[in-house]
Amino acid sequence: MSKTVLPTFFHDIMTSMLGKAEGQAFLDSYDKPRTYGLRINMLKIHPDSAEEHDIKQRFGLEEIPWCEDGYYYDVETRPGKHPYHAAGLYYIQEPSAMSAVELLAPQPGETVLDLAAAPGGKTTQIAAKMAGKGLLVSNEIHPQRARILAENVERFGARNVVVTQAAPDELSARFPLAFDRIMLDAPCSGEGMFRKDPDAIAEWSPQAVELCAARQWDILKEAVAMLKPGGWLAYSTCTFNRQENEETIARLLEHYPDLKLLTEKRIWPHLHQGEGHYVALMQRDQDQANDIVADQTHLKGKRGKKRNREDHPHKMASAAYEACLDWARSDLPGLGNLLGGGMPILFGESLYWLPSSAGMQLTPQSFEGLRIPRAGLHLGEYKKGRFQPAHALAMAISSYDAALVYTLKAGSSELAAYFHGDTLTVPEHYRGWCLVTLECEGASFPIGWGKASRGQLKNHLPKGLRQQSPTH
Ligand code: SAM
Repeated sequence: MSKTVLPTFFHDIMTSMLGKAEGQAFLDSYDKPRTYGLRINMLKIHPDSAEEHDIKQRFGLEEIPWCEDGYYYDVETRPGKHPYHAAGLYYIQEPSAMSAVELLAPQPGETVLDLAAAPGGKTTQIAAKMAGKGLLVSNEIHPQRARILAENVERFGARNVVVTQAAPDELSARFPLAFDRIMLDAPCSGEGMFRKDPDAIAEWSPQAVELCAARQWDILKEAVAMLKPGGWLAYSTCTFNRQENEETIARLLEHYPDLKLLTEKRIWPHLHQGEGHYVALMQRDQDQANDIVADQTHLKGKRGKKRNREDHPHKMASAAYEACLDWARSDLPGLGNLLGGGMPILFGESLYWLPSSAGMQLTPQSFEGLRIPRAGLHLGEYKKGRFQPAHALAMAISSYDAALVYTLKAGSSELAAYFHGDTLTVPEHYRGWCLVTLECEGASFPIGWGKASRGQLKNHLPKGLRQQSPTH
C-alpha cells in the first residue's frame, strides 16, 4: 500500500492499466523522492569545455539517458540559486519532460512552433537544437505565463524566438500549413506532478481527465491545421491515463488519415528516473496534404489593405535600426555576425530583430491583432533619436562581441551589488556601454549592461531582475 494518499479512482485506473503487480510498483513510486534535472545551455556552453566541467562537478550532475544535454542534479547544490542560472548557463527542467523535444528533433533553419510553451522548458530545448538558425514561434495562451516564458527565453539567450500570447485557433487562422515541426505539450490532468505538487492530487478527478481530453482534442486540431505537408508533430503530456494519451492520439489518427504515427514513448516513475511523460510523434503525409492546401486569401487580402499604411512604421524602424547599427559600430562590433535572417521591427520605442526562416518571412503585419510579448530579439530602446541596448541583447551575445567588458566573480560582493542594482566603481578609463559578465573557469558570460563614466558603472539590470542575491 503506498503511503501517499491518491484518489481511489486513479488507483483503480492505474491498476487496471498496468496489472496488479506493476500497478503496485507504479503506485509505490509516489512514496519515493522526486527527481531533479537541468539542461546545459548549448547556445552558451561548449561541450567538453572547462565551464561545462565546472557545472557538472559543482552540481553533482549525472547524465539523463534520453537527453543529450540533460542531467540529474543533486538537490542540495541548489543550481537555481547560483549566479550561473542568472547567466542562463542551464535551464532547470523535470528530467522526463526532456524526452519530447529529443523525439521531435528540430533542426537549424527550420520553422518550428511550440504551441503551449510556458514556462519554456521545451522552447529553450528546441532553441538550443536550432542553434540560432531558423524561426521558433513560442506561444502561450495565458498572459502572465507568456511573460515568464519571454523572460526565460531572454535569459537563455535565444535570438530566433518570437513569443506570442494567443489561443491556438488565433494562430492557426494566421499560419495554416506553416510549420516544419510543432511541439504540443498539452495542458493535462498532471498525474506525473503528484510527487512534485500535492495540489495536483487535490485537483485530480475523473471529470478533470474528461475535460482535459476534450481540451487536448481542440488544441490538437489547431496544431494539425498549422503542420506542413511532411511536417512532424510531437504531442506530450505529464499524465498517465490512456484517455489523454494513446486514446486521444488514436482518435486523431482516425480523424486525419494524412497523419501517421512514427513512435510513442512513455517514461514511467517506477521504471525510470523521472516523474513520467507521454510523447507521440506523428508525421503529416507529403502527398495527401496537397488536398487540404489552406485558403490563405483572407490573409493576403488583409495584408493588401494595410500596405499603404506600412510606410511610416517601416521608416521609423529603419531609423531606429540605423541608430542601433551606429551604436554597435563602437560598442558591439560583433552585432553584424549575430543577426540571422529577419528584419528590424519597432513596437513603440522598442526595437526588435524579427527573425525569419527560409519557410517563413514574418512582417509586422503577420501579427496584427495578436499579443506579442517578444517580437524576436529585443535590441534596445530608440528614444529621441538615441539608441539604448536592451538586457535581452546582453544575454544573447558573448563576451567577445562587446567592445567593453567588466567581469565579476561568483561569490564576490561586487556581483551581489550588481544583482542588487547598485552602481559599481570601475577604472577611470572605462567609458560608455559596458557588458557586465560573470567569470566561470577562465571564460565569462554576460549578465547585463552597465554604463561607465568617471569611474562609476551605472547599473542597467532591469528592475524586475534585481534583488536576486546569489547564495554562492
Ligand atoms: N511546454 C511547457 C514547458 O516545457 O515549459 C509546459 C507547458 S504546460 C504542460 C501546458 C501549457 O498549456 C500551460 O502553460 C497552459 O497555460 C497552457 N494552456 C492551458 N490551456 C490552454 C489552451 N486552451 N490552449 C493552449 N494552451 C493552453
